[in-house]
Amino acid sequence: MNEKIAVIGAGQMGSGIAHVFAQSGFGVTLVDISADALQRARDTIAKNLDRQVKKGTIAAEAPAEILGRITTDTNTGAVGEAGLVIEAATENADLKYKIFQGLEAEAAPDAILASNTSSISITEIARRTSRPEKVIGMHFMNPVPVMKLVEIIRGLATSDETTTRVVELAKRVGKTPVEVNDFPGFVSNRVLLPMINEAVYCLMEGVGTAEAIDQVMTLGMNHPLGPLALADLIGLDTCLAILEVLHEGLGDPKYRPCPLLRKYVAAGWLGRKTGRGFHSYS
Ligand code: NAD
Repeated sequence: MNEKIAVIGAGQMGSGIAHVFAQSGFGVTLVDISADALQRARDTIAKNLDRQVKKGTIAAEAPAEILGRITTDTNTGAVGEAGLVIEAATENADLKYKIFQGLEAEAAPDAILASNTSSISITEIARRTSRPEKVIGMHFMNPVPVMKLVEIIRGLATSDETTTRVVELAKRVGKTPVEVNDFPGFVSNRVLLPMINEAVYCLMEGVGTAEAIDQVMTLGMNHPLGPLALADLIGLDTCLAILEVLHEGLGDPKYRPCPLLRKYVAAGWLGRKTGRGFHSYS
């Protein structure tokens, strides 16, 4: 595979994915429909690289080199030369189907097409292309430069060759790949989101304040972040979208999204990215 990758979607995940691949020497084309998102992504990557310099984990001259490997583009067709395309756009099935349909013509014929989706079926996404054997889930965790796991999701048609190559690539960028099969929410969000949803029910029913609920889980269960603070980090819109996929895909009422979560999303209180969620961020 050539040493170029493309990332579609320059939000919190896409910018982190671009960061780790560029830091490992890959040329990265970062694509978003929003020029603002691309500028924010560059700023975030630069800020995080500076933090790494201060910590002494990279050399003082490294940020300029790493940023020099990232080009940005608002034209979604700009993925042409990449051997691996990683889609990290908004968690919406129809949007992802459209992106993968477009990649059919835009991506190199032998390119692997990966999705960073948190919950949407890789098998369904793959069906939108004529190369389902080259479509795979590459589910990075937030924040990408820090978190070790990449959940690798095999769709029904994903080939062994594609899986092997993607596992190798995840290792090359310093991550630990774990292979799972394609079911709604995979393993990570099938286990995590019901816990977050239950925490929102606790808040709605007045069992405790947001601070109390998070403290019980940090101090009592040794979780590094409480479930409501974690939901704010993930993005409440993304949490709701994942719960809808679990609810619809598994058909069990235990996954029904808490009405309070819907209300926050309706208000545009999406967590850290909008400055307000279950907690406030200034
Ligand atoms: P985000 O809202 O921060 O960013 C999404 C970006 O996609 C935005 O910049 C938007 O402009 C862009 N976009 C929308 N339509 C597009 C299109 N047609 N072409 C190109 N770009 C487009 O969202 P995020 O948190 O970065 O999540 C992105 C994906 O990663 C989702 O599938 C999400 O489920 C998944 N994910 C999120 C987390 C998390 O903790 N937030 C963790 C793992 C995986």
